[in-house]
Amino acid sequence: MGIEGYKGVFVFVEQRDCHIQNVSLELIGKGKELANKRNTDVTAVIIGKGVNSLTDTLSHYGADNILVIDNDKLDKYMTEPYTKALFEVVEAKKPEIMLFGATSIGRDLAPRVSARVHTGLTADCTGLEIDEETGNLLMTRPAFGGNIMATIICKEFRPQMATVRPGVMQKLEEDKNKKANIEKFDVNFNDADFNVEILEEVVETKKKIKIEDAKILVSAGRGFGSKENISIADDLAKALGIAEVSGSRAAVDSGWLEKDRQVGQTGKTVRPNLYFALGISGAIQHLAGMEESDLIIAVNKNPDAPMFETADLGIVGDLNKVVPELTKLIEAEKS
Ligand code: FAD
Repeated sequence: MGIEGYKGVFVFVEQRDCHIQNVSLELIGKGKELANKRNTDVTAVIIGKGVNSLTDTLSHYGADNILVIDNDKLDKYMTEPYTKALFEVVEAKKPEIMLFGATSIGRDLAPRVSARVHTGLTADCTGLEIDEETGNLLMTRPAFGGNIMATIICKEFRPQMATVRPGVMQKLEEDKNKKANIEKFDVNFNDADFNVEILEEVVETKKKIKIEDAKILVSAGRGFGSKENISIADDLAKALGIAEVSGSRAAVDSGWLEKDRQVGQTGKTVRPNLYFALGISGAIQHLAGMEESDLIIAVNKNPDAPMFETADLGIVGDLNKVVPELTKLIEAEKS
């Protein structure tokens, strides 16, 4: 069969302990847009144990079809059986496009599937469009350390596969009336597919919300001056209750914050309801990761800091004074 026989946009839905990861819903939203342009539909592929219960959510967020691979042995993610399952899906359904979240699971799984079905994979995309002339998928990602954006196409093989960074695409509004076609998909597993056994799972005890999922981010930049001073941002986040602390690359490179807290071109893309940019100058690489936030409040002692051009609300002042004052006001409001 030639590549013209391949149809439909497929999204691998990542779930952990039956919680669908946000990025998968974002990809269903983007997948729907791509599918419309190709006059086709979007299919969510969900793999795991007890995942039948998740089909309503996938329908409500825009999946037209859902392929369910529900198997007791697939309780936890394992590379080999998941690869085999998706390989068989590709063989049977011949999707034109297949999308994965650029998460640790997506980054493990997608390359193996692409190698097994003999097609290309563009990793870590930040943009996906359809080329109106050729119908090919245009997959855009930062290259050379983020200095240029490269747009990659996969002309000769199908499916066109991409992993996409969490937080970049937007999920659709939930529509509880939507119903997808649900199909149970059987995979020909044998014992050799389960040659790895999970003996123990050690869950990180620090309960941190991923910055991509936070509704409010208190983001710290070089203006904090020291690791100890980050406590000012921690206190504001605590007062706000549902906020997480993130930061610029300067703050991460200085060792004040963990790498997974970095916002920007080489960090995470975030889109919270509220983003505090504290002591962050507003370099283009930082803006690339947060400018889509709903409301941006900047505190900077330099009135000419570029961040003020992007911010909705700007406070010119020393963050050491402004931020604790703000924290106090919020605490007072609560009591
Ligand atoms: P600075 O630019 O040093 O700004 C500090 C700010 O704090 C200044 O505006 C200053 O006026 C203010 N300030 C100082 N003291 C105070 C005070 N007491 N009160 C209030 N304000 C104060 N950066 C990212 O953030 N994320 C990325 O993913 C990223 N990727 C990159 C990729 C590439 C290829 C390159 C070349 C760069 C990348 N950078 C990234 C780096 C980026 O260019 C900037 O260097 C970085 O964002 C600067 O961080 P900053 O704003 O915290 O520090």
